[in-house]
Amino acid sequence: MTIRVLPPHVARLIAAGEVVSRPLDVVRELVENALDAGATRIEVEVEGGGLALVAVRDNGAGIAADAVALAPVRHATSKLEPTAGAVERVSTLGFRGEALWAAAQAGELHLVTRPAAQVGAAEVRASGEDVTVRRTSAPAGTAVTVRDLFARLPARLRTQAPPAAEVREITALVGRYVLHHPGLHWRLTVDGDPRLTHAPADHRGAVASVYGPLSANRVLRVDGEGVRGVVSRPELTRARRDRMHFSVNGRPVLAPPELERAVIEGFAELLPSGVAPLCVLDLTVAPEDHNPNVHPAKQVVALADLPGVAARVQGAVASALAAHPLARAAPALI
Ligand code: ADP
Ligand code: MG
Repeated sequence: MTIRVLPPHVARLIAAGEVVSRPLDVVRELVENALDAGATRIEVEVEGGGLALVAVRDNGAGIAADAVALAPVRHATSKLEPTAGAVERVSTLGFRGEALWAAAQAGELHLVTRPAAQVGAAEVRASGEDVTVRRTSAPAGTAVTVRDLFARLPARLRTQAPPAAEVREITALVGRYVLHHPGLHWRLTVDGDPRLTHAPADHRGAVASVYGPLSANRVLRVDGEGVRGVVSRPELTRARRDRMHFSVNGRPVLAPPELERAVIEGFAELLPSGVAPLCVLDLTVAPEDHNPNVHPAKQVVALADLPGVAARVQGAVASALAAHPLARAAPALI
């Protein structure tokens, strides 16, 4: 048996395929970049299930012309100080400096960006390791387009979900960002067809956008220490936990069962057993008390004090219900 080191172009494709394994990953990474840039308007466009095109436009901080050539370089990031300890206290959604790089390896990356105070915009094209930069004009903010995803990875292309299935997941993903980041203008366009335009003022408005007014009229505000959002009144329940949404420091996460249980326990006897409420809860923890660096998609977040966070969640939900006597109406399954 011979052990060989992979040639760099093969190693690059393998590594990039771990960061971006499907169009959904591109959408998540680009949206998180827009949020990190402080955007208040985020437009997502998808064609061909995201394999033909994913584009995200934002009105955020932009990238200065003298820095833009580094954006698609692997491990190049503006979000982490170059010290070993910095990764222990991440406060941005991105920090690995790999998303734009991976998008350029797996597809064709095009980026146009301008900070509001800069005269003239910069345009970057990156495909594999080839990066070209030129000057152009553009509105303030950043527009990133990734085309022909996995054209260089035919095996990866063949194992992708059908476009309609990917679009469903992308729509649900954008919905989760809307729920956890109300107050922004959101738009999702699929194959030229506008799917969602949301500008909810608050969590209740976001629930109305994503789940309709019937649900939005039946939620209560939760406002506890490090726990904010909404929870449904006991009369609005579901057989599944599929509408229990949590974010940690702005990042939508797969909720640990302990947190789902904490919400349900906050209802005490108000909730029949075996049903779940709807909730959208934004948790805030000190950066050093959470670790998003446990999985490539960063949807799994390790919390240093999970029991403490769960207790705060349970308390906040219980107080929200106690403050609203109407919440004690008779339960009925929807
Ligand atoms: P990361 O987000 O982990 O830093 P990325 O590869 O996603 O890595 O992005 C690289 C860098 O490009 C970011 O650190 C940021 O400086 C810049 N950047 C990317 N997208 C945007 C955007 N939408 N607005 C402003 N800057 C951006
Ligand atoms: Mg990023």
